[in-house]
Amino acid sequence: MDFIGFIFWILVFFTTLIVLCYKAVELRTATITVGIILLIFTIFGDPGNIILAIEWVMFAVLVSFNIPEIRRNYISAQILKFYKAILPSISKTEKEAIDAGGIWWDGEIFTGNPNWDVLRSNPKPRLTKEEQAFLDGPVEEVCQMTDNWAVNHKDYDLPKKVWDFLKTKGFFSMIIPKKYGGLEFSPLAVATVMSKITTRSGVLNSTVGVPNSLGPAELLLHYGTPEQRKELLPKLASGEEIPCFALTGPRAGSDAAAMPDTGIVCKGKFEGKEIIGMKLNFSKRYITLAPVATLVGLAFKLYDPDHLIGEQSDYGITCALIPSKTKGLQIGSRHLPLGIPFMNGTIIGTDIFVPLDYIIGGTEKAGKGWRMLVECLSAGRAISLPSGAMGGAKATAAATGAYARVREQFNVPIAEFEGIAEPLGRIAGYTYIITASLNTTAMAIGAGEKPAVISAIMKYHTTEMARKIVLDAMDIHGGKAVMRGPKNYMASGYEAGPIGITVEGANILTRSLIIFGQGAFRCHPYVLKEIEAVETEDEGESLEQFDLHFFNHVAYTLSNIARSFVLGISNRLGNSPVADETENYYKQINRFSAAFALLTDVSMLVLGGSLKRKETLSARLGDVLSSLYLASTTLKYYEDQGDKETDLPLVHWGCKTLIFEAQNKIHEILVNFPNRFVAASLRFFIFPLGRNITGPSIKNTLVIGDLISRKTKTREKLCQGIYLKDEPTNHLATLEHLLELYETAYPIKVDLMKARKKGLIKGNTLEELMDAAVNKDIITQEKANELIEYDQLALDIINVDDFSEEELKTIR
Ligand SMILES: Cc1cc2nc3c(=O)[nH]c(=O)nc-3n(C[C@H](O)[C@H](O)[C@H](O)COP(=O)(O)OP(=O)(O)OC[C@H]3O[C@@H](n4cnc5c(N)ncnc54)[C@H](O)[C@@H]3O)c2cc1C
Repeated sequence: MDFIGFIFWILVFFTTLIVLCYKAVELRTATITVGIILLIFTIFGDPGNIILAIEWVMFAVLVSFNIPEIRRNYISAQILKFYKAILPSISKTEKEAIDAGGIWWDGEIFTGNPNWDVLRSNPKPRLTKEEQAFLDGPVEEVCQMTDNWAVNHKDYDLPKKVWDFLKTKGFFSMIIPKKYGGLEFSPLAVATVMSKITTRSGVLNSTVGVPNSLGPAELLLHYGTPEQRKELLPKLASGEEIPCFALTGPRAGSDAAAMPDTGIVCKGKFEGKEIIGMKLNFSKRYITLAPVATLVGLAFKLYDPDHLIGEQSDYGITCALIPSKTKGLQIGSRHLPLGIPFMNGTIIGTDIFVPLDYIIGGTEKAGKGWRMLVECLSAGRAISLPSGAMGGAKATAAATGAYARVREQFNVPIAEFEGIAEPLGRIAGYTYIITASLNTTAMAIGAGEKPAVISAIMKYHTTEMARKIVLDAMDIHGGKAVMRGPKNYMASGYEAGPIGITVEGANILTRSLIIFGQGAFRCHPYVLKEIEAVETEDEGESLEQFDLHFFNHVAYTLSNIARSFVLGISNRLGNSPVADETENYYKQINRFSAAFALLTDVSMLVLGGSLKRKETLSARLGDVLSSLYLASTTLKYYEDQGDKETDLPLVHWGCKTLIFEAQNKIHEILVNFPNRFVAASLRFFIFPLGRNITGPSIKNTLVIGDLISRKTKTREKLCQGIYLKDEPTNHLATLEHLLELYETAYPIKVDLMKARKKGLIKGNTLEELMDAAVNKDIITQEKANELIEYDQLALDIINVDDFSEEELKTIR
């Protein structure tokens, strides 16, 4: 066979293999196809004897894979032994965290070939009339009733009338069903309400957040006994009971399961009667609403040394609801969270004796506390903090865009400088991503999904993006954001940023350990099944199950190798569910989904249990997953409600930023992968033409920066849902009004400047120039008045506060 003929057959062979793998063709069909090619090659290809012999031997091996007895006993059995040796050990709490919640679009990303129907069939974001009326009514009212400066720097609390309003209007009962007196709002409505109140006051957000996320109501709804629900839920709904939930203590923060707090089952006297109850000892800190709580949700470890309730002596983490007036409970002193002094404090209990009925779900649920907490956390975590991030982002985008337009330096609005328009663009872009991901995720949760890994992605990334937004906004505002006082609308958000970063799973831990750590087991299509097979005691059953899942896993990996390679060569070869300007993003997400799935498999295989300790790699794998999730939700949101003119520049920025990030994180993983040969091989398949994705262009960033600094439809839509009532303490409303005036007032100012340049008028101040221009009929008095109104209002916004020594003493 000549050289050209040889190359031809090699190409035919490898192309066939790539197509079979790419299409994930079933093993039997693949074997027949390879057999036919080999036969044709043998007859027409004029191969040498050695090549022919090698190829038929390889084919024989392939055929043997199709015979279950041979495959199982000679291949799978050996691999099963190896698996037993490398499988990471999983603790009980880790197992409970892995099992908690469900999987949704995250599971599709892990397949390497996502089925876009799963995401696209998610309902469009829509509020009911009742929910909308609540937003337009009580939410507007409570915002108006709250003076953020007074709350943050004078009173360190919301006024009593606001507390009463929150209780009576149902703000604490949004997740409680109507049959218990609650509002029974959808997750989207809860997120929208929480977001809007954040635009007025962070304290409002934190106060309303706890009763509507992981707290007594949520736990009672899922695990409470019928009696507990009937008794307590109506009281929580009406605000008669104020809840808090106490998990964290001085010794147990991120590792909350290591809490030293105990409950010992014993006999004792309660309300005059001898009963079997539990003696509680605990010390908790950082507990939101604790200082005002009447019902304390408590996590502790339950022990029954005398076997009064069963055979077990060590039950593990258990959750109970303890009335705050219980004898021995010390509650009331406060911590002072940075920037937003909401109610937060310590709870200490020493030898408190309470009945076993206080356990949520009764003794049947003793020891099930950790699972209850992680399960409930998965839905709440995707809503509560992300909605604060969305409100903060929208308010910051609105305020900063307008401020950059009305603040002039060097005789032009600072928004006109590229140096300012670029961070403005980032603010706009990240705000869009947060809004898109929260709306899409909230709708999925409303439709019954409980995606645990996605909730961690949402919590981590929305709070991190909010932090980036606020940092850019601080820089754009310059001194205005640095001087404390009622005129400073930026400082409290800046100070409070680390709170969202810390709570409900501090961000470094969430990124390093939870997103990929949980996702790899929870979402991977085969790993959990293989682990279960390995752990099956019956050896025959174990081998049969392992063989089935392992070979499916191999096919899946081969498919991802082929898909990464082919899609890495050209986007055109991929599929997209849409054919518009966003088509390429769908294809790029498909490509990196395959690369991510391949990387996940290889990392788990090469690093085994040590991957858990390689947090820097695991964090980057989580970043890839997160970027693909956020890019997908950006596309979904655009599909649901996007308008080409209004949204498309933001969608381009968001998708380009996120897909570029996914590519770069994969690159970082490969650069730092411990096994260099494996890393080089992976690079060949994942980046056959190098790293060919670019981030958003500077022009794209400048365009969206400009769009939010003017009265545009893009700005209006992006900042929709913020508190805009025109009243003296609402800076957002003043800035909005200024932006309206700017459209007509600024051109008048430009005319004045031109007239001065031509020497037609003279003057040092705007007033002098205006007088001269009116006298010379260059502008009318009416126009001059318009300019004066704009200029004074702009100066009012630009001004900062100053205080006498006496006044300073009244500020905290
Ligand atoms: C304002 C506020 C309100 C709160 N409200 C409540 C509440 O209502 N109820 C309640 O029970 N708790 C509450 N918390 C507690 C909160 O959930 C904890 O702060 C959080 O779990 C982290 O604990 P820690 O602050 O002790 O940090 P630590 O656990 O000391 O962690 C310090 C740092 O180490 C990192 N870290 C820890 N382990 C790892 C790891 N394995 N890998 C990588 N990084 C790691 C963390 O990410 C963090 O950056 C609140 C906290 C705050 C600040």
